[in-house]
Amino acid sequence: MTAASSGRTVPGMISNSLDAAVAQLTAAQSQAATDAVITIRGLRKRYGELEAVRGIDLEVHRGEIFAFLGPNGAGKTTTVEILEGFRQASDGHVEVLGTHPWRAPASWRERIGIVLQESEAEPGLTVRNCLELYAGYYRAPRSVEETLALVDLATHADERASALSGGQRRRLDVALALIGDGELIFLDEPTTGFDPSARRAAWEVIAGLRELGKTVFLTTHYMEEAERLADRIAVIAAGEIVAEGTPKTLGGRQLAEAQISFTLPLGTAARELPTGLSDRVHEHPGGRLVLSTASVAADLHSLSGWALDRRLELDDLEVSRPTLEDVYLQLTSAKKGS
Ligand code: ATP
Repeated sequence: MTAASSGRTVPGMISNSLDAAVAQLTAAQSQAATDAVITIRGLRKRYGELEAVRGIDLEVHRGEIFAFLGPNGAGKTTTVEILEGFRQASDGHVEVLGTHPWRAPASWRERIGIVLQESEAEPGLTVRNCLELYAGYYRAPRSVEETLALVDLATHADERASALSGGQRRRLDVALALIGDGELIFLDEPTTGFDPSARRAAWEVIAGLRELGKTVFLTTHYMEEAERLADRIAVIAAGEIVAEGTPKTLGGRQLAEAQISFTLPLGTAARELPTGLSDRVHEHPGGRLVLSTASVAADLHSLSGWALDRRLELDDLEVSRPTLEDVYLQLTSAKKGS
């Protein structure tokens, strides 16, 4: 039996295991450090009297799709523009791909791709011309044909960019962000104005970026977009981060109570429900009954047993949990009220 398996320690072993623990910790820290593509500490941005970003901390890791959500005026674009090197921070520490964006050299810019919130079509140029033009700014661009295929614009390659529809134009914006084959892609509301099928196609393109090993920093107002795409989400409201997590855990979503809702047939009243349900159920306008519960199986069992005994149908019975949008609205309205 070794000293370790006996649960006893011997002199020297403590320092050995301490050394090992310290080495492990240092390795984990340096792994986390090298893994961080974006590091933000205490970032502040003031526009005169207005403090648009109020001391935020964030870390984005290599290979993840990170969604940055928040209501209009929350400070998203300000933060993104600081990360892209277009705006100078008032205070705090920002590092993107190991460099301070405001002082970054041209070689750093080649490593990032950007889809701006608004863009102008290049007058007179075809889609292909636009991509060729942008490809010329990079030392090792992705091929124009491959980029066209990625955003499904090959059939529009010879059309003038100014003649594209809004959704096609936005796909060209995404293509321009991808042509440089950068490691880090900023997508600022990339699917605004898309019809539902174009949005789904764009989601496939964005999800594909993860497969290519890219890191994506995405801002969006579409909760479904964040839910489908993001590995992690941060919510900013009034310049402060109010929550961070995965789409499933944001704002304690995974711990939230479920809701069982149903309508009773005509002639049956809520007070006839089994004790334990009748006193907890709430009637919503239109007569729908809603029960918040931490014990879905037990409450459903009790409800369905009761209905079967009376030969009642509960046609519209539903079990739901708060959606990402419910959680988001709660987080951001709480901030407004504070
Ligand atoms: P949206 O979802 O509407 O794009 P946002 O979260 O991107 O909003 P920002 O554009 O970062 O918000 O703006 C944050 C706050 O800073 C807003 O109150 C805005 O009016 C203000 N602001 C932004 N840019 C400037 C500027 N150049 N000068 C003064 N105030 C500004």
